[in-house]
Amino acid sequence: IYGPKRKNSQGVNLNIHSQYQPLIDEMATFMDKEHHAKPLLAFNVDDDTDARHTVLCPFDRRVQVGSVQWTSADQAAKAVDAAWSAFPRWEATPVGERAEIIRRLADLMETHMAELMTLCSREGGKLLTDGVAEIREAVDFCRYYAVRAEELFGESTPLPGPTGETNELILGGKGVFAAISPWNFPVAIFCGQMVAAAVSGNTVLAKPAEQTSLVAHRVVELLYEAGMPRDVVQLLPGDGPTVGSILTSDPRITGVVFTGGTDTAQIINRSLAAREGAALPTLIAETGGLNAMIVDSTALPEQVVEDVIQSSFQSAGQRCSALRVLYLQEDVAERVIEILKGAMDELRVGDPRDLGTDVGPVIDDDARRGLMAHIDGLKQEGRLVAEAQLDPTQTGNGTFIAPTAFEIDGINDLEREQFGPILHIVRYRAADIDDVIESINKRGYGLTFGVHSRNESFAEYIAEKVRVGNVYVNRNIIGAVVGVQPFGGQGLSGTGPKAGGPHYLLRFATEKSLTINT
Ligand code: GLU
Repeated sequence: IYGPKRKNSQGVNLNIHSQYQPLIDEMATFMDKEHHAKPLLAFNVDDDTDARHTVLCPFDRRVQVGSVQWTSADQAAKAVDAAWSAFPRWEATPVGERAEIIRRLADLMETHMAELMTLCSREGGKLLTDGVAEIREAVDFCRYYAVRAEELFGESTPLPGPTGETNELILGGKGVFAAISPWNFPVAIFCGQMVAAAVSGNTVLAKPAEQTSLVAHRVVELLYEAGMPRDVVQLLPGDGPTVGSILTSDPRITGVVFTGGTDTAQIINRSLAAREGAALPTLIAETGGLNAMIVDSTALPEQVVEDVIQSSFQSAGQRCSALRVLYLQEDVAERVIEILKGAMDELRVGDPRDLGTDVGPVIDDDARRGLMAHIDGLKQEGRLVAEAQLDPTQTGNGTFIAPTAFEIDGINDLEREQFGPILHIVRYRAADIDDVIESINKRGYGLTFGVHSRNESFAEYIAEKVRVGNVYVNRNIIGAVVGVQPFGGQGLSGTGPKAGGPHYLLRFATEKSLTINT
């Protein structure tokens, strides 16, 4: 995060050499380029359309990053036809060949890192460090799923049986998957869903988030360059209520892999269930969270604050994994809050291209309006604890929100996830810890969770009791690494299986057992 010009709070120039300088120089060459995207389908798409959606830059709404042509209903229906026709051929393609294409995509994303990062920044408002992590994660997904697919789909699994009989288990693809991805990880999650479905032998209709279709378009161009047949993976830019719902109501869609809000996952679920005569679908949904962290009196306040700042405000709090509710044991609450206020004062909100920036913009005006309504409500109730400062010369033209912390009574005060840099703090008494855990579990979300304590048995006790997907002890709660911290939740936070985990591809697969009487 710290660039060459960064000074610390005493004005001392940290002067850390930026390892990113060559990347930054290369990014500069893409900064002013406009990008125009259209659906990438198995057949040619007419360029003459006025249904172009303009993409504005979140950190400077005066700048037009490019435009996207939305997919029409007719094109979407034809894309499903093409995906179905391609499925048997693709499923019969040896897994080694499928995996090789995915590996080539990983290589190409590495070579085109600066270009992809520039789009992530200009279209998605990502900081440089977030952009690096984003592309790396996409590359990791490709390489991890390529290996895992070869393990799972390469050979059938021999099974025991009586003498005179052989038994085996064979995995195959399921059919056509719709992959509906979010704007907050427009390369990593977009790519992870798409390659997982495809490498498992399915054909894919990928619908990127409206806000980040340009970078998705570039990734699919690279995927074609890597050798992916155009009818196996198609890109259908568009908005949820039109393209998304066309896909989820089509009886030929075998499965949907979705990352986004819990409400949208429920709409998709209902839409899939309402299809007359359709085969029973697969829904893999990774949704939101009201992620909590519990800090007891033995925790180290300085470390707590560093991890809270990262967990709540990195990526402007626009991560499903971000910390939303910080539970402080009453004996340490004042001390932690005091240090937190100081740290929040130091946060620099602004242009994500500047290495000194800690917090970039939120994605768009709608997001900003919703977050501001929540902030104003809590301010009016007199609940404000701390607020970072905005410098209007830096933030005046973008959709920025100052990182803010409020005190509330408990997780039940929150109606829904607030997808931005807003932290809620709750004080608890040590004797009430079981009630705290029960209220978190009862609230029904179960994505990420943190504990800060030097009392090992306390941390273990909490980690065991809480019903969530990812528990982190004495560290921040974001940035799950592929193959290291498989990511995904339970309850209102998702269906599982966990992305970047050993079981993920199984949900994209059919299982056939073959018994031969010899
Ligand atoms: N995997 C990301 C993390 O651990 C979050 C993904 C998301 O926001 O959907 O921070």
